[in-house]
Amino acid sequence: MKWTKTLINTLREDPGDAEIDSHKLLMRAGICRKNGAGLFTFMPLGMRSLRKIEQIVREEMNRAGALEILMPALQPAELWQKTGRWDTMGANMFRLKDRGDHFMAMGPTAEEEVTDLMTNIISSYRQLPVTVYQIQTKFRDETRPRFGLMRSKEFIMKDGYSFDTDAEAADKTYWNMYKAYEKIFARCGLKATPVQADGGDMGDSMTHEFHALADAGEDGIASCPSCGYAANLERAERKIEERNDAECPAYEKVATPNSRTIEEVASFFSLPPTSFVKTLVYVADGTPVMVCVPGDRDVNEVKMKRLLSAKSFALADARTVEEVTGAPVGFAGPVKPAKADIKIYADFSLKGARGMIVGANEGDSHIKNVDLARDASIEQYADIVICGAGDMCPKCGAKMELKRGIEVGQVFKLGTKYSDAFHTVYKDENATEKICIMGCYGVGVTRTLQAVIEQSHDKDGIIWPASISPYQVVIDLLDPDNEEVVKVSDELEKTLEDAGIDVIVDDRQDRPGVKFKDADLIGFTVRVVVGAKGLSKGGVEIKRRDQSKEEMKIVPPDQAFDVIKELLV
Ligand SMILES: [Zn+2]
Repeated sequence: MKWTKTLINTLREDPGDAEIDSHKLLMRAGICRKNGAGLFTFMPLGMRSLRKIEQIVREEMNRAGALEILMPALQPAELWQKTGRWDTMGANMFRLKDRGDHFMAMGPTAEEEVTDLMTNIISSYRQLPVTVYQIQTKFRDETRPRFGLMRSKEFIMKDGYSFDTDAEAADKTYWNMYKAYEKIFARCGLKATPVQADGGDMGDSMTHEFHALADAGEDGIASCPSCGYAANLERAERKIEERNDAECPAYEKVATPNSRTIEEVASFFSLPPTSFVKTLVYVADGTPVMVCVPGDRDVNEVKMKRLLSAKSFALADARTVEEVTGAPVGFAGPVKPAKADIKIYADFSLKGARGMIVGANEGDSHIKNVDLARDASIEQYADIVICGAGDMCPKCGAKMELKRGIEVGQVFKLGTKYSDAFHTVYKDENATEKICIMGCYGVGVTRTLQAVIEQSHDKDGIIWPASISPYQVVIDLLDPDNEEVVKVSDELEKTLEDAGIDVIVDDRQDRPGVKFKDADLIGFTVRVVVGAKGLSKGGVEIKRRDQSKEEMKIVPPDQAFDVIKELLV
């Protein structure tokens, strides 16, 4: 392909709204163009990389035994109403009405749609296990679209769904998909780490997310350098040391005027935040609860939601706090709250805590010398705080590290949540009707493309892995009017193309500097420079994008092919 025959539009300046490197490079290298907030066009260069990623996903899914289908992106509301998600999906789901006044959704995902489809197809155990997948556009009405393809309103996903006869078979399918995902990301040149995650609304059983570790990632991940444990902060657990607090005298009230926050109270008492119990009032499915954590910790609302099996879990408003505690906001505590029967949950590191300072459930007052077991009625102790760096690994006890990740894939055990709702059953060997066990498996295809850029770039531009580079090789043709030079370039182009290596020839009438700059910005895996000066000295210059100038090889034209091939492995 000749540069002048395709449509490449690189930009010199970073777009104003791009906050992270990969977003800037997507635009500057002409991979994408922005159409509106959270909406992007894939330009010819971007399409090539996108199609290569899709092909890798397709090959690995097919190899794992999954079957490709394509379902409509437009989904009838009735399907979503069957599982109640028409209401719970909230404002994130694009909804519309057709001319017959029927509500529809622009699919953000397709569990309902696929379960409905398969319910009408599956009848016998002989058809199972079966996994179907599609590579399809998904829609999400993001509150604040940002980071380019990371949080866009429209994106391409591979979503797969499995149907199995029992839990054991479903388990096998899950790990089969997990392994396929490892291969997919490795082949895309992406370092993706599987981490334990929270199931959220999708189901409550086991799930792993695949994260491309990058500082620009939106998710926090706790990871153990010693044993490899890794979990999304929403889910990450920790080991604690058992407390050995000395007994304390009876508790007493202390006036603490104008001290509400832990910082204010800690400074009032001149004690570290760990001497305090932070008490917050939440509302879980309409019922207020109290949550106690050490003063230097934050409540992990996802863990609490799971602990209570709650559908909704949010901080209480001021009026509810006043009703529950009998005091203005800022003085809640676990000792004798106004609402005597409120359930109080405490972090398990507070078990055996004595000599603590807590809110007095009375304005401008705290209580000191609190023995939590003696003075408060704790419903349950559990791990309910957000993990931090230095927390002990739940598996081996080593100190954990905090990292940031971009979620590029997820595998879920759905269980029977959807098959129950749609009555997806099969007949076993004895003609007994049984419910199908489901799993679902997503890969953010467009997001993966950007995550690769986030992980693989330098100050000059993108560094594409050979497997998904828009063109694996760029030939910078320095003297497009010199017949001899053009002949060498044409021959090399043909040899490469015949060998199935895709190549673009920069045949523009431009200075070498411009060509080198664009080649580096777009980040083609291998760059070959063919010019009159080089040829007169006997060769063409070859270098991989991630190699330094010193590593550049100068070889005679007839050896170029072998050298390029080696660099692409
Ligand atoms: Zn560990």
